[in-house]
Amino acid sequence: MIEIKGLHKSYVTGANSLHVLKGIDFTVEEGEMVAIMGSSGSGKSTLLNILGMLDEADEGSYELDGKPIKKLNEKIAARYRNKFLGFVFQSFNLISYKNALENVAMPLYYQGVKRGERFSKAMHYLTKVGLADWATHLPNELSGGQKQRVAIARALASEPKVLLADEPTGALDSTTSYEVMEIIQGINDEGKTILIVTHEDDIAHMCKRIVHLKDGVIIEDSRIDQVRVKELSHV
Ligand code: ADP
Ligand code: MG
Repeated sequence: MIEIKGLHKSYVTGANSLHVLKGIDFTVEEGEMVAIMGSSGSGKSTLLNILGMLDEADEGSYELDGKPIKKLNEKIAARYRNKFLGFVFQSFNLISYKNALENVAMPLYYQGVKRGERFSKAMHYLTKVGLADWATHLPNELSGGQKQRVAIARALASEPKVLLADEPTGALDSTTSYEVMEIIQGINDEGKTILIVTHEDDIAHMCKRIVHLKDGVIIEDSRIDQVRVKELSHV
């Protein structure tokens, strides 16, 4: 599903250059659920943004679903992004004056999906994250966990092949974090490929594989026994 080789990325600001990714090789198969870990500043978001086609590497190759991702014009890049990738961010990024249903339906509008289908799909995914009863509520009437569930429904609505989440539980308390992770595990159970950036050990262990970044390289990459949120007694 994802194959990167020899990936390098530097940020140049004025006379300074910061070499953030220094040769990353990384493959993700369909259906995996991978945690990308590392301390703050280790390049996790940089890597995820490159995988998400929000940024480009300086060097190396990237194939997404068998398609080389390099120097695509913005129109094709946007089409790939819509078709293949769904994003979830720490800060939810919901539109404050639109209700939950409208937020979930929004990306479908930009993809030219007709109104009726937009809202029926949006309702389907809102229901999936357990928020059918909250469809007409505005973001400021929702808890943090509910907001993140809306953001997950929005990411799923365009039926991407890969879900990319950058610190999706970073703004949530641990009980709420676990609720969100339970939903993400359920989505992965249905076969969706998921990559989650986190610096929290307990969250990483709810994935099936942990990739550890340090000083611009992968220092560890291992499959683990996934902790199932459902089976944790205190949730
Ligand atoms: P992480 O997500 O692991 O905390 P990031 O990928 O956000 O790390 O950042 C890695 C390093 O690159 C950090 O030192 C950060 O300050 C720097 N950095 C990130 N984005 C930019 C940018 N747009 N311009 C310059 N430096 C950046
Ligand atoms: Mg980050």
